[in-house]
Amino acid sequence: MKPKQFPKYIIVTGGVMSGVGKGIATASIGLILKKYGFKISAVKIDPYINFDAGTLRPTEHGEVWVTDDGGEIDQDLGNYERFLDQHFSRKNNITTGQVYARVIEDERNGKFLGQTVQLIPHISNEIKTRIKEAGKGFDFVLVEIGGTIGDYENIPYLFAIKSLEREVGDENVKHVLITYLPTPRHIGEMKTKPTQQAIKMLSEHGIFPDFILCRAKESLDSVRKKKIEIYANIDTDHVISAPDSDNLYSIPLNFEKDNLGEKIMEEFNLKKRVKPNWTDWKKSVNIIEHPPKHVDIAMVGKYLDIGDFSLKDSYISVAQAVEHAGAKNNCGVKIHWISAQDVESGKIKDRELKKYKGFIVPGGFGKEGVEGKIRTIKFARENKIPFLGLCFGLQLAVVEYARNVCGMKNADSIEINPDTDYPVINIIKSQESIIKHNRYGGSMRLGAYAAILEKNSMVLDLYKSTKRIEEDREQIELLKKDKRNMFRLGVLENNKPVVIERHRHRYEVNNDFVDVISKMGLKFSGYHNLTKDERLMEFIELPSHPFFIGTQAHPEFKSSLISPSPLFYGFIRAAMNIKIR
Ligand code: GLN
Repeated sequence: MKPKQFPKYIIVTGGVMSGVGKGIATASIGLILKKYGFKISAVKIDPYINFDAGTLRPTEHGEVWVTDDGGEIDQDLGNYERFLDQHFSRKNNITTGQVYARVIEDERNGKFLGQTVQLIPHISNEIKTRIKEAGKGFDFVLVEIGGTIGDYENIPYLFAIKSLEREVGDENVKHVLITYLPTPRHIGEMKTKPTQQAIKMLSEHGIFPDFILCRAKESLDSVRKKKIEIYANIDTDHVISAPDSDNLYSIPLNFEKDNLGEKIMEEFNLKKRVKPNWTDWKKSVNIIEHPPKHVDIAMVGKYLDIGDFSLKDSYISVAQAVEHAGAKNNCGVKIHWISAQDVESGKIKDRELKKYKGFIVPGGFGKEGVEGKIRTIKFARENKIPFLGLCFGLQLAVVEYARNVCGMKNADSIEINPDTDYPVINIIKSQESIIKHNRYGGSMRLGAYAAILEKNSMVLDLYKSTKRIEEDREQIELLKKDKRNMFRLGVLENNKPVVIERHRHRYEVNNDFVDVISKMGLKFSGYHNLTKDERLMEFIELPSHPFFIGTQAHPEFKSSLISPSPLFYGFIRAAMNIKIR
């Protein structure tokens, strides 16, 4: 018998409209196959012309996800990492901007001398090369094509997929179409017509779905399944109902109830390598769905286009990290979305802040709402309510401490007030000229960086007790293998504990103030050694407080349902009123 050829490709396309959970469905299929013992890679295709998601507006597009290697990517990659509990790289994202940039660069370098460089085959070949590259060494590659079938922008990608199918054989490429079945109120009936049209449009590209996942408010009945079966020419049991679910993490379990994994195995003529073990996953899902208790947390952020949806989307990975940490603590977490502008204007009074058991000040940029964030931090510090500051949150906690404890009246970050007498947060040196020359794309301090933790700190306790220190040790060894990554590790010190978190910032704590501020009680509990004698502060904590921690990093980018971020875990524990040490 011929040995099996790997990787196998699962192409996920969307019909009818976007935003129906294609990313979650892709991540869920990936998780099922991982549980069956396969090695999974996943690629998100974003057909926009931006080079990456870094320059997109977060309130329109959702928060930017940052990978270890500094890629700024769509949140779907975040879903893959959160579900699969594995790290992906910028290679796992393809944008039209990147594809064209490379083809044009190659053309300038004479790679296509004498040829007319065209959409087909040059652009589609580049797409194919990138997909194959992301799949090297894996058993399955899930390829999610952003947008909706029928978008002009998708055409070169569909062509590339068709060509890939021809190259590797259609037995190695299967298609999943995710559609939406609306139930218009005035009709009161679930309509299959838009799905039929999506199937038709897909077939115009020579693609015939092997599975159709039907997103809808409710489950699909047999009449509608039958209709879709006839139209798409596939078995009814390959038409999978995927009704709305309050809890994303239950979706792979729902798919498994429908035996989706087994059906995919059959389609590829494969057998599960191991019996899947869902115990931990089910336990966490169960806690999220039926929490024995819950805590109220306030997320104090800058909300521009108010309207619940965009607002939550711009802090999606923070909210997910909170959920993971809750599940690990056997506790549900209700996040209250508090507008920093409203705290600043006084619309939200201290009386209202008293309702919450913990405050998160997440990452952010620019002036708006800053004073509201600082007021919240002061409130949390003085009233001994747990506080977690992420990136901008750390910076503003340092500003607050400098102003209100160290007597530096107009202390500030120079991002907010360049004329302050006490620039406690300064621009990172290497960022100065980048800003001067308006080179905003992909130029922040991005991706994984090592931090050395101070012995006898709460931060170290948390990284140790959650075993993250050990996990990160493996990552450090991997980074050491490639000289080009040395800048991510910086200068390590013998026998000192090291952790790795992801970053996305231009400003840092000004080292000129570190001594004064520490003397007044704020502890700098972790740092990155840029050189032997140049440090960048990575963590702060207040030893006299039950839980007051800030980090220059975004630990939410390394949080997954199965291994939550240590800092979020500790924060929720403290909010539940459990002593950390
Ligand atoms: N604006 C701050 C900086 O650039 C913080 C960034 C962030 O929170 N991601 O350093």
